[in-house]
Amino acid sequence: MTDLDALPLRPELRGRTPYGAPQLKVTHRLNTNENPYPLPAELLADLGTALAEASRELNRYPDRDAVGLRADLATYLTRTSGERIEAGQVWAANGSNEVLQQLLQTFGGSGRTALGFTPSYSMHPIISAGTGTAWVDGHRRADFTIDAAAAVAQVREVRPDVVFVTSPNNPTGTAVALETIAELYDATDGVLIVDEAYAEFAREGTPSALTLLPGRPRLVVSRTMSKAFGMAGLRLGYLAADAAVVDALQLVRLPYHLSSLTQAAARTALAHTPALLATVEAVKVERDRIVAALPAMGLTSVPSDANFVLFGRFADAAAAWQALLDRDVLVRDVGLPGWLRVTAGTPVETDAFLTALGEVAPEFR
Ligand code: PMP
Repeated sequence: MTDLDALPLRPELRGRTPYGAPQLKVTHRLNTNENPYPLPAELLADLGTALAEASRELNRYPDRDAVGLRADLATYLTRTSGERIEAGQVWAANGSNEVLQQLLQTFGGSGRTALGFTPSYSMHPIISAGTGTAWVDGHRRADFTIDAAAAVAQVREVRPDVVFVTSPNNPTGTAVALETIAELYDATDGVLIVDEAYAEFAREGTPSALTLLPGRPRLVVSRTMSKAFGMAGLRLGYLAADAAVVDALQLVRLPYHLSSLTQAAARTALAHTPALLATVEAVKVERDRIVAALPAMGLTSVPSDANFVLFGRFADAAAAWQALLDRDVLVRDVGLPGWLRVTAGTPVETDAFLTALGEVAPEFR
């Protein structure tokens, strides 16, 4: 095989590594923040019917504007946020990664800059590079919270075209106060993207940025069915914003990007929202159980509003990661010195994780 460097690669892609959470054969996979619960039997039955129905028309292109699906997503957002969201304010794509890519194709690109507060979701800089958008690391405090005044000052100085705020943040679980988001919106002339992939797991009293949408045409809230809905394999992400943002995205989206099977499966899943989201409460219980068990092992965690916990501190996080893997538990080494991230799953998974960690902690902390 030819060396990558021998190809006429775009300069901004040279020397980069692709996104790559290990997909290993392990009993307890707690490394990619999936929902471990199987889909309810009634949903599986309905999916069979809906996909068979949609398959009859696979000779035709899908609804290019995914009108029915966007209406269903708008209904879901309105019901859960209390904020009235119209179908025209919603856009959907193959995972929120594709939503974010379309946003950067529209509002970023050559000669433009995106800023995100790191450590955060590693795909934000990767998608920026892929769309030719320059990237600037925004600052966080040592406890991973965002200092609103410092963040506003940095945004005023850098003048980015796109600002990312991940709330709850991946990999730290940290939620961002709505006042901070509103201040950042006022500080930028660019588009402010609040990545709410984990919003459904937030603790009581942590509101969604959806409530900030009225009167803020440059604010975008992105969501996904990969986490709370337990449908990572479906690849369905979406956003809510001013309808003008949705119109702008039409300039870059590929025609017929969402297959008819995806649209049918997503609409069927949304019809089962209460049953699907029932697992969210169970996952939150496991998250809180993990957090509560750590101090007795001499470990600590970062307060989490998501379905995962950043825990530590370890003298050598990579060695602790390997020791857990040796005990058949796969967690994520996100490259933060001293810290590892574990996805909260079923009670059995929590038991296995805590047992393994109990053995590993004394040696590596
Ligand atoms: N945003 C954040 C913060 C994430 O952690 C993830 C998945 N790890 C995504 C977006 C992308 O999810 P998907 O493309 O599956 O919707």
